[in-house]
Amino acid sequence: MTAQIIDGKAIAKQLRLKIAEKVSSRLNRGLPAPGLAVILVGNDAASSIYVNKKVQACEEIGFNSKKIELPESTSEQELLNTIDSLNANPEIHGVLLQLPIPEHIDSNKMLEHIAPEKDVDGFHAFNLGRLVQRNPLLRSCTPKGIITLLESIDGVDIRGMDATIVGASNIVGRPMSLELLIKGCTTTVCHRFTKNLQSHVERAELLIVAVGKPGIVKAEWIKPGAIVIDVGINRLETGEVVGDLDYEAAVEKAGWITPVPGGVGPMTVATLMENTILAAELSEEKVR
Ligand code: NAD
Repeated sequence: MTAQIIDGKAIAKQLRLKIAEKVSSRLNRGLPAPGLAVILVGNDAASSIYVNKKVQACEEIGFNSKKIELPESTSEQELLNTIDSLNANPEIHGVLLQLPIPEHIDSNKMLEHIAPEKDVDGFHAFNLGRLVQRNPLLRSCTPKGIITLLESIDGVDIRGMDATIVGASNIVGRPMSLELLIKGCTTTVCHRFTKNLQSHVERAELLIVAVGKPGIVKAEWIKPGAIVIDVGINRLETGEVVGDLDYEAAVEKAGWITPVPGGVGPMTVATLMENTILAAELSEEKVR
C-alpha cells in the first residue's frame, strides 16, 4: 500500500485565503485588521525563525502585527508589564509568548497572565479548561490544525477510531488527546514512561507522533492503512529537516500520511491566524 499524502501546505494555503477574505470583509465594514503581538525573549535561534514566520504570515494576510524582542536578561516583572500593556491595547487581539523563555522566568505564570480572550496559542488554563469541558474557545494551534487536516480527508470519519498519540506535552500531546476525545476517538496517550510503545502503535487506526526524536516510532509498527500524522521537527547534522518517523518506509504502510516538512508545520501557523481573527470577532461580540 502507498499512502495518500495529506498536503498540509496546500490545506494551510486554502485556510489563509479564507482568512484573507475575512480580513478584507472586515476592512470593508470599517472594522480594524486583526492584531497579533508576538513576544520573543532571549536569543534562541529556532524561536527567532518561528517568530519571523508568524510575523511574515501576519503581513501577507493583512493583519496588524507587532514583534516585541526582549533581551535574555528581562525580569519577570518586565515581562508581566509588557503582557499587561498588550492585554490593555485595543488594537491587539492576540498575544503570543514564544516558548521557550529564559529559565529564570516562570513560563506558566507568564502564560496565565495573558488575557484568556487574547490567548491565541490556547495555552491559558481557561482555554484548556474549556477544551476539557467540550466547549472550546481558543484552541491550541498545533492540535487544532491537525483536526483541520483530519477533517480534510475525503470520506473518512475518525469517530470511534482507536487513536494513539505518542508524546504528552502541554502544547501538543495533551490538548490533542482532548481534541480527539471530542471527535469520538478512543484515545491512548504514550510518553517517556510508556511500556511497550510498539503495542500501542500497532493497534492505532489513527497515529499521531509528537516526540522530537527521529525513528522513535518504527514504520513497521504502523497498522496497514492507518492515518499517520507526524508532528516531529528534527534538524539533522546534514541540515535536513525530518519528522519522528522514517517517512519513506511509513508511506508504504499508512493509508494517509503527513510529510515533514509540509504537513503539520504550515497548519500551525495558519491556525494561529485563524485564532487571531476569532479573537478579534469575540472581542467585538463582547462590545456589542
Ligand atoms: P516535548 O519535549 O515537550 O515533549 C515530548 C514528549 O515526548 C513528552 O511527553 C515525552 O514524555 C515524550 N517522549 C519522550 N521520549 C519518549 C519515548 N521514548 N517514548 C514515548 N514518548 C516519549 O516536545 P513538544 O514540544 O511536544 O514537541 C514534540 C515534537 O513536535 C518536536 O519535534 C517539536 O519540534 C515538534 N513540534 C512541531 C510543531 C509543528 O507545528 N509542526 C509544533 C509543536 C511541536
